Parts: sequence; structure tokens; C-alpha cells
Amino acid sequence: MFTEFLYTTQDSWSCERRVMKCGRPQCACGSDPAKRHGPYFEWTYKVKGKTVNVKLSPQAAPIYKAAAKQHRKLKIVLARLERLSKTALANLAKQADNTD
Ligand SMILES: [Zn+2]
Repeated sequence: MFTEFLYTTQDSWSCERRVMKCGRPQCACGSDPAKRHGPYFEWTYKVKGKTVNVKLSPQAAPIYKAAAKQHRKLKIVLARLERLSKTALANLAKQADNTD
């Protein structure tokens, strides 16, 4: 159901779960990895080579995660189509050369 919204030419599209250190010296997150803040969810994609991070609510995260999965599948299909296109073009070019 997400495919229609998802098609993008972006190379990078992901939804990650992150934990963070706040940087306050008195906070336990600095020394204990288990006490880090979060989890936060972040949607990451690229615009003109620049990475954009968008914070997501825990409710929104699964939607973007599903979209990221769809995106990976689409990239695989597109790569396959590209290979097929190259083969088809090469064959057409060969035929054109032979009919000269
Ligand atoms: Zn902290």
C-alpha cells in the first residue's frame, strides 16, 4: 500500500532507531550505554547529495520503515530493468548495424 507514495530516485532512504547521549556531565548516558536517551526514530534521505534527517514519532516509525523496505525492493527491480534495457538496446543496435 505504500508503493505509490514511495517511488523516489533517492539513493538513500532509511528509517533508523537511535539512542543518544545528551552531553550533560551529570547524566548517566555519558558513561552507561544502557542509559542513553531514546529510542528516537529518524527518517533519513538525500536531497541533491545532502542528507536530511527527520525525527519521527514511535507511531510513525513503522510506516517509514515499511516504506524503506519497499524502497529497497524497488531499487532491486530498477537495477534489473536497467540490465535488461542495456541488453535489449545492445541487441537492437546489433540488428541496426546488420541491416545497413
Ligand atoms: Zn543524558
